[in-house]
Amino acid sequence: MEGLKVLEKREKKVVEIKNTKVGKGHFLFCAGPCAVESREVMEEIASYLKDTPVNLLRGGAFKPRTSPYSFQGLGEEGLKILKEISDKLNIPFVSEVTDTKYVEVVGRYADCFQIGSRNMSSFELLKEVGKTGKPVLLKRGMSATVEEFLNAAEYILNEGNENIILCERGIRSFDPAFRNVLDLNAVAYLKEKTFLPVIVDPSHGTGRRDIVEKLALAAIAAGADGLIVETHPYPEKALSDGFQSLNREEFISLAEKVKSLASVFKYEI
Ligand code: PEP
Ligand code: MN
Repeated sequence: MEGLKVLEKREKKVVEIKNTKVGKGHFLFCAGPCAVESREVMEEIASYLKDTPVNLLRGGAFKPRTSPYSFQGLGEEGLKILKEISDKLNIPFVSEVTDTKYVEVVGRYADCFQIGSRNMSSFELLKEVGKTGKPVLLKRGMSATVEEFLNAAEYILNEGNENIILCERGIRSFDPAFRNVLDLNAVAYLKEKTFLPVIVDPSHGTGRRDIVEKLALAAIAAGADGLIVETHPYPEKALSDGFQSLNREEFISLAEKVKSLASVFKYEI
């Protein structure tokens, strides 16, 4: 890993996404549905996010689904809905870009690009989002080593874009009990070694609604600068990832605990 710029001993970076900051004591609390399904569902989600410390809205408009027969997202229409809701909540939003051909349209609406696990090694895509200068939430590939993850960040950095947030979202293991295993080793390690903010996705990291809260709190203790959590008012009806999405009550309960624990660790939240 020697020679990587992301490992240079430098002052920790604060990434600014409009009025939201992450890193160096600023906690990123990102939440929303896996995919934007309709304006109505988004409005319902906003009705409970508004009373929490959530400072970044999430939602997929271009969805990278394992099956080509699963819901693929609303595309540009989804981005328009996200923009409306984020304006109402007065917080920025992040949305995934799955291909170089969508960088322009996602960049026109979103305040931050999400590079998903399945695209962590799409080097041309990393270069394209790097060129925009816009913040990038970079998720770790589900089978990527820490070194490969850091090299992906390096591709973005080499385009002159330092606005990178590293996101641990779980890695594949031999154990079918969980969708993924959240690698908290990597969180503690990356926090120590790189100057970039590190956040955690306990939703994909577990794949189980019943343990998301515990792992979210463990991530804060491991040094995470923030969380990205999936929520849906009716998880059983969600068009994607309902099994790992928190409902309204579960999300409000999580938000209270996140607020208390993050302040124990001296985060501004
Ligand atoms: C998501 O955030 O909904 C997503 C698809 O995540 P990942 O790329 O980590 O699987
Ligand atoms: Mn998802």
